[in-house]
Amino acid sequence: MSRRLTGKVVIATHNAGKLVEMRDLLVPFGVEAVSAGELGLPEPDETGTMFAENAAIKAKAAADATGLPAFADDSGLCVDALDGAPGLFSARWAGPDKDFAGAMARIFAELDARGAIDRRAHFVSALVLAWPDGHTELFEGRVFGDLVAPRGSAGFGYDPIFRPDGHDRTFGEMSAAEKHGVDWQTGAGLSHRARAFVALRRACLAPGA
Ligand code: IMP
Repeated sequence: MSRRLTGKVVIATHNAGKLVEMRDLLVPFGVEAVSAGELGLPEPDETGTMFAENAAIKAKAAADATGLPAFADDSGLCVDALDGAPGLFSARWAGPDKDFAGAMARIFAELDARGAIDRRAHFVSALVLAWPDGHTELFEGRVFGDLVAPRGSAGFGYDPIFRPDGHDRTFGEMSAAEKHGVDWQTGAGLSHRARAFVALRRACLAPGA
């Protein structure tokens, strides 16, 4: 049985781009979101071997530190012809300077080095809600598409090279609403985070306004 989330929740991320997307997603449900960054919480080491494990590490650390329910996402881009890389290391490929132009160039360089023609890739988002008493809930979302030469400057991270299936434009060319907005009438959302959030909303959030 899933547990309902009400009141205040900590968003356990220090990534400004993800924070904006998560806040946008929570707004309709009257849940007050404070971020781990704003609360000055330390970033735990992400030692898991799967997205879900890393999300749980971050959510549990924030719930333990604050005594509030906490919400964390671990996500990344998995490229089929690179055996799923950068995957868990998506942020790390950009290095401490968050050089995503370099990380995107590295993807194409590694594809070329392998002589790979296949450009299929998908984003994954694992969302974990953790309560201070140890209860956790996990929700996952994926979006599949193709890698193309970088286009657009919206969004963050690898958005400019990811063209989701059924669309002509990359995530970097889409508005925030188009990328991660959710149609609550149908439950449809495009991004991996929106899709994971739809599952979370069904299980743990009261109906929106
Ligand atoms: P983490 O989840 O904070 O460990 O980092 C995930 C990394 O994956 C981000 O820093 C981005 O590089 C990448 N990533 C995750 N979601 C997205 C997205 O929606 N667009 C572009 N890049 C993303």
